Amino acid sequence: MKDIKDKVEADITTHDKNPYEIVKELLKHSISELGFDENIYHILKKPMRVLEVSIPVRMDNGDIRNFTGYRSQHLDILGPTKGGIRFHPNVDVDEVKALSIWMSLKAAILDLPLGGGKGGVIVNPRELSERELEELSRMYIRKITPIIGPEKDVPAPDVNTNPEVMGWMIDEYDTLRGYNIPGMLTGKPIILGGSQGRLAATGRGVVLMVREAARFLGMDLRQCTASLQGFGNVGSMTAKFLDELGVKIVAVTDANGGIYDGNGLDIPDLLAFVKDGRSVTEYTKAKPLNNQDLFSLPVDIFVPAAIENQITKETAPLIQAKIVAEAANGPTTPEGDKILEEKDIFVIPDILCNAGGVTVSYFEWVQNAMNYYWKEEEVNQKLEERMVSGFENVLRMRQQQKSRMRKAAYMVGIQHLVKAFKARGWIKNADLTK
Ligand code: GLU
Repeated sequence: MKDIKDKVEADITTHDKNPYEIVKELLKHSISELGFDENIYHILKKPMRVLEVSIPVRMDNGDIRNFTGYRSQHLDILGPTKGGIRFHPNVDVDEVKALSIWMSLKAAILDLPLGGGKGGVIVNPRELSERELEELSRMYIRKITPIIGPEKDVPAPDVNTNPEVMGWMIDEYDTLRGYNIPGMLTGKPIILGGSQGRLAATGRGVVLMVREAARFLGMDLRQCTASLQGFGNVGSMTAKFLDELGVKIVAVTDANGGIYDGNGLDIPDLLAFVKDGRSVTEYTKAKPLNNQDLFSLPVDIFVPAAIENQITKETAPLIQAKIVAEAANGPTTPEGDKILEEKDIFVIPDILCNAGGVTVSYFEWVQNAMNYYWKEEEVNQKLEERMVSGFENVLRMRQQQKSRMRKAAYMVGIQHLVKAFKARGWIKNADLTK
């Protein structure tokens, strides 16, 4: 008897944490609440193409290690598919599929003429030398070359990849194709056709969304405190811009642990400290904090900026914040989400909150096509227009449907995609009503 119970509980936990199952469930409910037929769900539930590749790399000791990588392309009805490449030991095919669906929704919410894509390699990049990492990056691009390109699918950075990795990847792609094709990926070094403002774009977008949420909730950000989980590109840029708006950041963590200062951390000093790859845990001007204690801090704004499945049925009850701004993709499990809902916490969902990255990637791709480049102020202004209007559309849907922000964001994205299905003749009027 006990065995069966344990198995059922294990299944629930796995289901609760499998991002592909989570996104399908949310799609299904949002489609039905919008009053659409389930045919819409059948179109959206599967990526149009998923490629698995083997990536043999000669390691420094002379041995070959064969890594596994994926690229998922969800939907290309609005434009080429678009999304990052992550290097992480927990990458799996379901995660990559889910992430590509989220990318389609992000693009749809922000009205970008792009679809959703995502790639990943199962690897812990910290265990690799720089030469091994470069070899892996180049080999992965070689393997996915047949399905990518500026008109087909445009990669970008994601967890543990950065402009330097993008530089190796574009070099490999150009070598294979025989000429310079800057629009084949985004998040490149500026000198190779990267956009001004791209590196900071996701964090900048997160803070724009926090600003809009605070305005809606009547909160004065200069009186607010915040804590952040994750201090990579997105976490650190979010901290920088929150600090600039006068928010007191009392705690941050990274993969090694965290730090706390009730009077507020000196963010410019901390950013300078971690610049050369140091962990926040080595910063001695604040008290140490463990990842678990981070959740229970009495702050106004909590920003998960790490990986999936962090706000769970175990950690959600601890959260005291009024706003949760999902800078990471998929940081909240459905059970965690339910608890946030019961506690009436205002959640800015990932597919809206972190869409600043893909938005400036879109601008980068446009600039590459024109071969003419904008100043940073122009990029930032265009980013702000898109994100604020995305926020307003989601808020309007939330009020119309009397739903939560997450559901409303799914609904805005789905409605946009349904318009394109209809225009392409994929669905008939009968599919639009139950
Ligand atoms: N990896 C980022 C994301 O999850 C950016 C994708 C892009 O710039 O294409 O949104």
